Amino acid sequence: MTVLIFFIVLWYASLFSQTFFQHRYGAHGAFTMSKGWERFFFIIAYITQGSSYMSPRAYAIMHRLHHAHTDTELDPHSPSYSSNLFAMMWRTRSFYQDIINGRMVVEDRFAKNVPEWPAFDRFANGAVSRTLWVVAYTAFFIYFASSPWLFLLLPVVIAMGAFHGAVINWFAHKYGYINFKLKNTSMNLLFIDVLMLGESYHNNHHKYPSAINFGRRWHEIDPMYPMIRLLALVNIIDINKPSALLVHAGEKREE
Ligand SMILES: [Zn+2]
Ligand SMILES: [Zn+2]
Repeated sequence: MTVLIFFIVLWYASLFSQTFFQHRYGAHGAFTMSKGWERFFFIIAYITQGSSYMSPRAYAIMHRLHHAHTDTELDPHSPSYSSNLFAMMWRTRSFYQDIINGRMVVEDRFAKNVPEWPAFDRFANGAVSRTLWVVAYTAFFIYFASSPWLFLLLPVVIAMGAFHGAVINWFAHKYGYINFKLKNTSMNLLFIDVLMLGESYHNNHHKYPSAINFGRRWHEIDPMYPMIRLLALVNIIDINKPSALLVHAGEKREE
């Protein structure tokens, strides 16, 4: 039971960081925050994602490439260019490593206004940190797992952040329904998204990338929307001032 609770808490905590910080804030500039709060959420992302921590800068660049080149050969993760989910995860990893290690020439427009904290990223992305997290997760499982079957969850825990990304990038580009006819394969995967914190409304998201509410129809409840409103209400983030990124892209934010 302890392991299952741990898994569920980590599932949502890790996903919260990804959708709120790396995705909506880092890649899309859906809201702004002070440098101090940005660093706070860097640390939250590290704690909640552990061994699968993703550099917000590399994530943002990679994700903007996805939006700009969806379903083409330049898309870091497209089911059209990988034979299965794991092959796609491996391809995504290569893109990520090339960005992190400066091996990829990145156009200015993809690297503008991304959250940056190079020293922290070096540590949090490093092999030592990742190894320590894996050891800690494994020890936790050995101590608390009441059945050997629970160990099947361990690889998911270790690669949680990448796993969440892959679920959307694979399944929501293959299965689901559409609200908007777009020139790409994006679909809304679930009618009511309780598993992916709004991320599964992927067709809506490709239509309005920087919306603070990923839901469009009455049943499309985005659990992050009230959370974003609340964080704005207590002045942790600002949703009224369009970020420089939106101004640059000429995008009008739709809610
Ligand atoms: Zn997509
Ligand atoms: Zn996006």
